[in-house]
Amino acid sequence: MDRLKGKVALISGGARGQGAAEARRFADEGAKVVIGDVRDDLVKETADAINTKIGAKVVRAVHLDVTRVADWRIAVDTCLREFGGLDILVNNAGIANMKGLEETSEEEWDAVINVNQKGVWLGMKTAIPAMRRRGGGSIINISSIFGLIGSAGSTAYHGSKGAVRLLTKAAAVQYAPEKIRVNSIHPGLIMTPMVEEAIPGQEALQPVIDLTPMGRGAQPEEVAACVLFLASDDASFVTGAELAVDGGYSAA
Ligand code: NAD
Repeated sequence: MDRLKGKVALISGGARGQGAAEARRFADEGAKVVIGDVRDDLVKETADAINTKIGAKVVRAVHLDVTRVADWRIAVDTCLREFGGLDILVNNAGIANMKGLEETSEEEWDAVINVNQKGVWLGMKTAIPAMRRRGGGSIINISSIFGLIGSAGSTAYHGSKGAVRLLTKAAAVQYAPEKIRVNSIHPGLIMTPMVEEAIPGQEALQPVIDLTPMGRGAQPEEVAACVLFLASDDASFVTGAELAVDGGYSAA
């Protein structure tokens, strides 16, 4: 499969979970990929595993804290130096917080907003000049069903992921004339380390599964397939869109 042949992608939070699944799928589809994460050992392991499977150095790992502009510059420079350009950015890095409004401390609020919201803006701001030089590009921002609907907990997370939805639309409008498409994905329950850490055990997961019309959580590869579509030229007329990948959760 060559749906991303000739393209260069940068994926934040690529050490594990959905970001790692996207890196594996993108590499399978012919892309060159830079994955960045704060988990330095794991992001390198993930890159090494993909390169071994493909039999070529198609993935590079970099240290990337999405809240730091200097790290973003190094990540984008790595795309340019190692692979000659940048066509696709997946703003995937994120952190969870399940506390309600009064229970959230100012430090927790700042941490969630910095990673989930400011990190997405900084990533787009740093990547867009490189995409402009390629004559276009595709940005996929990973929001959440919690960026579409409310719940009684996760106040800071809702605030950050709701912001990602409209940041996406604003960027889509601003950069459409430059052929840079910007879309958001809104995953439901996806079985990744984030969920294993935040909602441990089948018993704790069951209420979320019960609210999902398809009656299950998804594997990260099921999100990666949708990110691939938006990244690829198959989505050539799709910008400013929001795609729920949630088994019907937000439709119910
Ligand atoms: P995960 O925790 O398994 O992976 C997230 C990755 O982001 C980790 O490797 C982590 O080290 C990295 N990260 C955290 N802070 C970072 C920072 N400051 N800079 C760079 N990297 C950082 O989680 P996941 O489920 O794969 O989540 C991926 C995205 O999907 C997140 O934005 C998350 O909010 C979103 N999401 C997840 C679910 C779910 O059910 N798993 C649902 C909706 C949305």
